[in-house]
Amino acid sequence: MSDEIFTGTFTQQEPIPEEAIEAAVAVMRSGRLHRYNTLPNEKGEVALLEEEFAAYTGAKYCLAVASGGYALGAALRALEVQPGEPVLTNAFTLAPVPGAIAAVGANPVFVGVTEGLVIDLDDLQVKIAETGSKVLMLSHMRGHIVDMDALMYICNGAGVAVIEDCAHTMGASWDGVPSGRHGVIGCYSTQTYKHINSGEGGLLVTDDEELAARAIMLSGSYMLYGKHSAGPAPEVFEKIKYVTPNVSGRMDHLRASILRVQLRNLPEQVEKWNARYRVVEEGLRGTPGLTLIERPQAEQYVASSFQFLVMDWSDERIEALVAGCLSRGVELKWFGAPEPVAFTSRYESWRYAEPQSLPESDRILRAIMDMRLPLTFTLQDCALIARIISEEVGKLA
Ligand SMILES: *Cc1c(COP(=O)(O)O)cnc(C)c1O
Repeated sequence: MSDEIFTGTFTQQEPIPEEAIEAAVAVMRSGRLHRYNTLPNEKGEVALLEEEFAAYTGAKYCLAVASGGYALGAALRALEVQPGEPVLTNAFTLAPVPGAIAAVGANPVFVGVTEGLVIDLDDLQVKIAETGSKVLMLSHMRGHIVDMDALMYICNGAGVAVIEDCAHTMGASWDGVPSGRHGVIGCYSTQTYKHINSGEGGLLVTDDEELAARAIMLSGSYMLYGKHSAGPAPEVFEKIKYVTPNVSGRMDHLRASILRVQLRNLPEQVEKWNARYRVVEEGLRGTPGLTLIERPQAEQYVASSFQFLVMDWSDERIEALVAGCLSRGVELKWFGAPEPVAFTSRYESWRYAEPQSLPESDRILRAIMDMRLPLTFTLQDCALIARIISEEVGKLA
């Protein structure tokens, strides 16, 4: 019997919906692409997206920006993080997170990861005590959400402000509270590989009027902040408008127009991702040598990707698994690879940060296998992918 091969593409997202394409064409026909280029009494696509995303997350204020990384940077600047200040973040995340911290001249301090792929709350307490840091940039990496009640209890008790990096959790929640709504600011990405796709783009939400006003000024509102229907009242800007620099990073009407349609469709998309995830999970369950990530009851996840662990395997065995799967069309990404590859890198690779050692986390990071689950895959595709992985693991037993 010859081996089955998978021929799908792990980076192929769905097409932009026709309705969104029509909305984009209408914006282009208008010639008014800049967010502040609106007719009298016209709100414009960007402000409408902000209103709709604020309503979707239950936030008071929303700002649309040029990227998720930009939103993270704006959040740090709005909180007035100073050069040299320690900012806590996950050891298991992607480069834009420590990058945003470094971009304001602050020092990333890495907090360990658990076998559930979430931030280690014991290590968080240690690092808060050791560094005296007042800010945590919490990355819900690959959509895994830590016990947010426990995390907020620790951070509130220590006076640590939490910025949530929700690049992988748009549409997810913890015990019914939307991801991005526990911390003081939530940041989202609308880059192609995330949950709604405008090529590049980001969103920031908060209930704090002064942080919202600062973020809006920072994004490049000039003195046009009155056009932000999802922003605070003009008086709030009086306090900050002379002391907040313009660090341009606005969203435009073209992107906003296609995002608005996708945001309306998001709940259906979430169901589709999770159905695919469950097929892969069932297919891999019981495979000797693989550890699945058990998802907590309180976590309402959006499974746009899949992770499993190969605990304490040798490098050679992991490399053989990656190669065996790849030869059958299944692209696994190994977080433990010694050199950073494509989008994947590890905390030791971010050498602009002070060197740090997290031996417990190293053991887990070494074991993380990761793959995307784009919605262009069918449920049958997902079953095939799981069969291939499980067979390749079997060959290495
Ligand atoms: C994609 C991503 C970001 C940043 O988003 P961009 O829109 O690409 O700048 C931040 N954090 C994580 C974990 C991401 O995957």
